[in-house]
Amino acid sequence: KKFVYMFNEGNSGMKELLGGKGANLAEMTSIGLPVPYGFTISTEACNDYYEAGKMVSPEVKDQILQSLARLEENTGKRLGDPSNPLLVSVRSGSVFSMPGMMDTILNLGMNDETVEGMAQLTNNPRFAYDSYRRFIQMFSDVVLEVDVYFFEQLLEDYRENKGYTSDPELTAEDWQEVIAGYKKIVKERTRKDFPQEPKEQLFLSINAVFDSWNNQRAIVYRRLNKIPDHLGTAVNIQSMVFGNTGNDSGTGVAFTRNPSTGENVLYGEYLINAQGEDVVAGIRTPEPIATLESEMPDVYKQFSETCHLLEQHYQDMQDIEFTVERGKLFILQTRTGKRTAQAAIRIAVEMVEEGIIDKNTALLRVDPDQLNQLLHRRIDESAVRTQLAKGLPASPGAATGAVVFDADEAEELGNEGKKVILVRPETTPDDIHGIIAAQAVVTSRGGMTSHAAVVARGMGKACICGCEALKIDLKARQFRVGETIVNHGDIITIDGATGEIMLGEIPMIEPQLSDEFQLLLQWADDARKLGVRANADNPEDAKKAFEFGAGGIGLCRTEHMFMDAKRVPIVQKMILAENYEERSAALAELLPMQQGDFEGIFEAMQGLPVTIRLLDPPLHEFLPDKEELLVEVTKLQILNPDSEELAQKELLLKKVRQLDEFNPMLGHRGCRLGMIYPEIYEMQAKAIFYAIATLSEKGMSVKPEIMIPLVGHVNELKEMRQLVVDAALKVQEETGYPFDYMIGTMIEIPRAALTADQIAEEADFFSFGTNDLTQTTFGYSRDDAEGKFLQAYIENKVLPDNPFAVLDQEGVGKLVETGVKLGRKTKPQLKTGICGEHGGEKSSIEFCYNTGLDYVSCSPYRVPLARLAAAQATI
Ligand code: ADP
Ligand code: MG
Ligand code: MG
Repeated sequence: KKFVYMFNEGNSGMKELLGGKGANLAEMTSIGLPVPYGFTISTEACNDYYEAGKMVSPEVKDQILQSLARLEENTGKRLGDPSNPLLVSVRSGSVFSMPGMMDTILNLGMNDETVEGMAQLTNNPRFAYDSYRRFIQMFSDVVLEVDVYFFEQLLEDYRENKGYTSDPELTAEDWQEVIAGYKKIVKERTRKDFPQEPKEQLFLSINAVFDSWNNQRAIVYRRLNKIPDHLGTAVNIQSMVFGNTGNDSGTGVAFTRNPSTGENVLYGEYLINAQGEDVVAGIRTPEPIATLESEMPDVYKQFSETCHLLEQHYQDMQDIEFTVERGKLFILQTRTGKRTAQAAIRIAVEMVEEGIIDKNTALLRVDPDQLNQLLHRRIDESAVRTQLAKGLPASPGAATGAVVFDADEAEELGNEGKKVILVRPETTPDDIHGIIAAQAVVTSRGGMTSHAAVVARGMGKACICGCEALKIDLKARQFRVGETIVNHGDIITIDGATGEIMLGEIPMIEPQLSDEFQLLLQWADDARKLGVRANADNPEDAKKAFEFGAGGIGLCRTEHMFMDAKRVPIVQKMILAENYEERSAALAELLPMQQGDFEGIFEAMQGLPVTIRLLDPPLHEFLPDKEELLVEVTKLQILNPDSEELAQKELLLKKVRQLDEFNPMLGHRGCRLGMIYPEIYEMQAKAIFYAIATLSEKGMSVKPEIMIPLVGHVNELKEMRQLVVDAALKVQEETGYPFDYMIGTMIEIPRAALTADQIAEEADFFSFGTNDLTQTTFGYSRDDAEGKFLQAYIENKVLPDNPFAVLDQEGVGKLVETGVKLGRKTKPQLKTGICGEHGGEKSSIEFCYNTGLDYVSCSPYRVPLARLAAAQATI
């Protein structure tokens, strides 16, 4: 079996085998770009390594040595040959790009002899020793597990003793002394000498890369991004090129377009006289790529042409790593660049306009989940604010939170639901759990391509980098900007789009959709076949829904209209009524109020269909809490035994006790209310019909769909339908306006789905209430499950996902399918949709499309997401 591939033996289609990095190095080699030669050890070799109990098998080892021989032949250098040493990098690379999650070793092959050879060969001893000390540090960190801290401490002390302020001031002799110190550290920490034999170095490194597949940060990153654990990583062995040979060398990273805004300009950074790690690790703050044009015009020209070529070749924005060695350009990596939602949309739309991709491809390029970022609030431009400092705008979005300086603490507080902003000199991949939990990240060092920035953009989190005005004192847990001191726990606000850091909390405003976003959604509307509606209970939400492009309202819950503080006393009067007359009187008071609500909602939707659900929750939800009431009654019994107030409260308590239920979720609610108190549903139906009459009078068109909740037996629906029809007739007679309406039901009880053929006889439409249907299918009470056992179920993989967030297609989905099939058997034209959380979740939306539903309905803010996801399901 072939486990090792030379760069000229692969291509970009072989990602699963060669990893993303290896496949793209092969592809770039084959299209003739200047890529240092090398070979890739496949992901299958990684799995082989784990199967053999963490050992490189003789077969794989053999293939590696053969490939090494070919590399030596190709470069004319030999590993460990002092007169002309081959030096290589050992680079991990998995199928999905995991920036900074895995470990890389540079300059492998250096030892006490080859370093001398390098010094003579290049006539640049300083460079040779600098490379050697970098190798010792990286190798020790990754392979020998000696913390970099010890090396950094030694270097810092050395610099201080010599009175240097930066590394370039160190001479060859200085580096030699540092190297001696480094070796001592290794000896002290590992009780062994630093390995001198290059082949031993090589195989130890390969093992370490395989091992790094299972380091903590890689595991966390995979979990976060739902990357399977069994894929394994490939290892790339590549001959070194050097960006640290002097001022005609350097290294950098660039995106072919701005990954933050999407603007079509080269966006990147570089450092002169440095090795690759220096840029991505965020240790030195680099120069913007534009300056390269004036510093090295020829290199810049070649580089920008290469960027263009790569973008055309891959037909997507690329994230490219490069190194310049004595004026010659080398490309070390390319991959599809991570980007913010804003950038994803702009790039997709502009690439269509530039003729690079078609509209369907553009639609598939934007992840619906990412759109949330754009529907978030922004800092109110008109708000008074004082800028504390300004850094690089690394990832847009605004955030307010308490300052913390430690990733563990950020995680702890974040998980408690506190809003924190992680402030660090720089972030390393080890901080990822803190970044996840924080609202935003701020660093005082590092550029826009540092790991902090890349990771934050990927997560849609606001991030500011390289804010050098921040003098961070980790020990004192504070930072200083000029005279101002900000302590741990102080509140700051940051704007990742401008790089501004401000003291305190700053007001924010509602989002607006950009022109490109609107255009993309228009394409989505053209492509999709699945309708998208919104859940909205009041005119404001309805307006939002309309603005975000909802094709109607899929669920208008009427109970919220009962919960308004001014109405609660009337609702209570209705509930406490001893007889029909009293109840009718209270309902008569409520009717005009509901009518007004409906008018507002119909108006906002401008003639689009509106599905109104009649009252659903159990009546005790509108009454005071039993315990609290009991306390009040007891107090009054002692203080004011003869009062009218006591008499009233006692009556209320009696009613509360009567209505109390063991299982409210399965209790007297939904259509069961209408069955026992028909006057309630009658009032609601009339309020809807009066609203229609009023608006029709004004010449507006209205498409009401009246929905009866929680039906389990066709007889329930039959009776409720008759009630609504009668109410309609009465109002039509009274007002003289004829109007159209539909009557349908929610399918949210398994029995309803299973007998949908009967139920369809009485229904014009079905709306699958997947929240309740999930509760009733699993037999989970949502309110109890999520807090008590569901989390453990998901962590232990008993369930793949939270079924209240992601539709359980196997179980709940089967009921939906059955309901649609049986319903349409009776009525082929039966309209079907879903409402509930699932209507705004992309995999559930795809399922709804495949099941043949007519529409999904979700919260107004998720409508754009659903429009896009519906298009993607169709494509
Ligand atoms: P990551 O996946 O963390 O980006 P890489 O394998 O890309 O790690 O390596 C990090 C950096 O090391 C790269 O940006 C590149 O500049 C540098 N590097 C890797 N291999 C070589 C090489 N053969 N020659 C010069 N620099 C290299
Ligand atoms: Mg890289
Ligand atoms: Mg329900």
